[in-house]
Amino acid sequence: MKKIIVVMLSLGLFAGCTSNIKKNADIENKYPPFSIQNMDTTLKPGNDFFSYTNGSWLKNNPIPADKNSTSAFDELFEKNRHDIREIIEESASIKDVQPGSNTEKIGTFFNSGMDSLSIEQQGLSSLKMFFDKIESIQNISDVQSVAAFFQSYQISPFFYLFSSQDSKNSTSMIAQCYQAGIGLPERDYYFNNDESTKGIREKYLIHLTKMFELLKDEPSVAKRNAETIMKMETQLAKASFTNVENQDPQKTYNKVTIDGMYKLAPDINWHSYFTQVGYPGLTEVNIFQPGFMKELSSMMKTVQADDWKTFLRWQLINSTAAYLSKGFADQNFDFYNRTVLGQEKMEPRWKLVLDVTSNSLGEAIGQLYVKKYFPPVAKQKMTELVMNLKKSLKQSIENLTWMGPQTKQEALAKLDRMGVKVGYPDKWRDYSGLVISSQSYVLNVLNSWAFEFKYSMDKIGKPVDPTEWGMTPQTVNAYYDPNRNEIVFPAGILQPPFFNMDADDAINYGAIGMAIGHEMTHGFDNFGRQFDKDGNLRDWWTKEDSEAFETHTAILIDQYNQYEVLDSTFVNGKLTLGENIADLGGCTVAYNAYKLSLEGKETPEPIDGFTNFQRFFLSYAQVWRNNIRDEALRNQVKTNEHSPAQIRVNGVVYNMPEFYAAFTNVKPGDRFYREVDQRPVIW
Ligand SMILES: [Zn+2]
Repeated sequence: MKKIIVVMLSLGLFAGCTSNIKKNADIENKYPPFSIQNMDTTLKPGNDFFSYTNGSWLKNNPIPADKNSTSAFDELFEKNRHDIREIIEESASIKDVQPGSNTEKIGTFFNSGMDSLSIEQQGLSSLKMFFDKIESIQNISDVQSVAAFFQSYQISPFFYLFSSQDSKNSTSMIAQCYQAGIGLPERDYYFNNDESTKGIREKYLIHLTKMFELLKDEPSVAKRNAETIMKMETQLAKASFTNVENQDPQKTYNKVTIDGMYKLAPDINWHSYFTQVGYPGLTEVNIFQPGFMKELSSMMKTVQADDWKTFLRWQLINSTAAYLSKGFADQNFDFYNRTVLGQEKMEPRWKLVLDVTSNSLGEAIGQLYVKKYFPPVAKQKMTELVMNLKKSLKQSIENLTWMGPQTKQEALAKLDRMGVKVGYPDKWRDYSGLVISSQSYVLNVLNSWAFEFKYSMDKIGKPVDPTEWGMTPQTVNAYYDPNRNEIVFPAGILQPPFFNMDADDAINYGAIGMAIGHEMTHGFDNFGRQFDKDGNLRDWWTKEDSEAFETHTAILIDQYNQYEVLDSTFVNGKLTLGENIADLGGCTVAYNAYKLSLEGKETPEPIDGFTNFQRFFLSYAQVWRNNIRDEALRNQVKTNEHSPAQIRVNGVVYNMPEFYAAFTNVKPGDRFYREVDQRPVIW
C-alpha cells in the first residue's frame, strides 16, 4: 500500500530483511548490540568516524541477496519479525478460536497470504468487480465515479484522501488531499537526466508494457498503453510539488470549502466525488498542492475517457500486484525492488505476508506483542530517560546565545507542554468491523485498506482522540507529531541496540537517548519550529531570532550539500535539513543529559580501553551501522529526508565540541576535522 505520513517526523528508515529463518538467540549472538569487535581501530577517528566505529562490521556483513541494505535497524526488524511470527503461529494454533475475534483474523489473514496455490488458481478473479467497473466507463463523469470507488479502498488514483488535524486549529479534524497518481518513486524521476534516472525511466516503460501484457493486452496495445501512462504521469509529476516544497507547512496549507474546490478544480464534480467515497457532508478540505489539483482538473478536459480507463487499470494492478499470482508479483518485484533498489531476489514469502498482516491488523498484533515481549520495567526506565533529556534540552535553550528572551519563553513553554508516549496505546483499536476471510488474500488486503480509509475519514468533525498512536507498538521507529506536540516511542524500538537494560548508561544515552533527543528536536527543526505548543501553525518567533535560525541552519544545508555519497550523487542539504537538525540537536542533548546523570557520581572507569564519553559516541555511531546497495542509496538520496547512515554519523560528530574533547587525537588536518567557526550550534 502506498501509505503516506505527512506530518510525522520519524527517526529512521529501514528496508528489506534476511533470508534464513533463525532463532532469536542466534540473531542476538551474531549481532551484539554494542561491541568493539565491530570497530576498525587501524583507522583514525578523525578521518571517518563511521568507518572507525563500524569498519569490521561493514566488512563482515555483506548485504544478503534478498535485501537492499543491512543495518542495525534491519537486525532489530528481523528479530521483530521472528517475534511476530510466534504470535501469529500461536494465534493460528488455538483450537475453537472465536469466529470474528482478533486472534481468528490474524491467523486467517496470514494463512490466506501463505496459500500460494489458491492465489495462483484465482488469478485476477478476485478483482473482477474492480475491472468490470473500469470496463463500464463511458465518459469523464464515469471516470470520476470509478476513481472515487477506488479511493474508498485506498487505491488512490488521483490523490490521497485522509483526515488529520487542521494545522491552524489543532483541536479539529479535517479532510486532507495530497498529490498522487505517479508510479515512479518521486516526481524528479520523470525529469532528471542523469544516466541512472534515464535508465530507470526506460525500464519503467518496459515494466508498464509487461504489466499490460499480463493483463492480456496484445503486445502492440500494451506498448501503446505504457506510453499513455508515461505521458499522463509525466503531466501529473510536472504539476506536483517537489519533496522540498512538500516540507513547507505554510505552502501546503490551503484550506478551502467545497465552493473553493470547484473554483480550484472546476472539472471534477466534487459533490458527487465525496458522496461516492462515502462522505457527502464534507465542507472543508486542506489541499496540500493546489497546482496539482488544478492540473488534474484540466486533464479531465484534455484526456480522453479511454486513456483514463487505461490509467485506472494501471492504478488497480500496480496497487495490488504484490498480493496476486506469481507473474504479477514477480514483475512488480523486478521493477520496484530489482531495478530501483538493486535487490537481487525476493524475500521468503512468510516475511512478506507477515509484514502485510502486521500492517493490516497493527494494533491487534500489537496488543499480543506487548503482552509477550514488552517488560513494564522498560517503560519506567524510558520515562526516567525522557525526563533527563527534557531537562537537558531546557538547559540548552536557556543557554542559547543566538536566541532572545521572548522566543526562548515560547520555546520553553513548547518543550514543557511536549507529550510523551512510550510502548503502546492505553486504548486499543476495535477491529470488529474488518472482514477477513480465507477466500482471497488480495481481497483481505483491500478490505483492510477500506477499513483504514473509513477509520481515518470517520474522525472528521469529531474531537481529537489524545490516546491515538500513529505507529503500531511493534514498529522499529519513533516519531514527533507537530500537531499534537508529542514524541512517541513504540515498544518495537525499545530493544538493543537502541535500548539495552543490561548496558551501561553511556551506551544507552548514545543510542535511545539520542533517539529521544532527536524526536524532541523535531519540535524545533525548520518544520517543527513553525508550530506552537498547542500544535498550531503559528509564528512565535521574533524576526531577529528567525533570521538567526536561518543563518545557523544555512551552514548545515551547505555542509550536507557537500557530501558526495556516490559518484556525482550528493546529499540534498535542503531536503534533509530537518533530520540533520534533529540528529545534531539530538546527539548534543543526549550527551548533556548523560553528563547531568553523572552529577554526584564517580566517573565510570574506561571499558575496553574507551572512556565513558568515548563510548557514548561509539554507541551513537554503531546504531547507524549500515551497508547499502548503490541503487538503494541513489533512491534514498532522491526520495528520503533522512541522510544516508554514514553521513548521519560523520555529519554530526565533527560538529560537536564534546566529540573533540572525548577523542583528543582528532586534530586539524584529519579528513573530517571541522574548524570551530564551521560548527553550527542550533539547539
Ligand atoms: Zn527524524
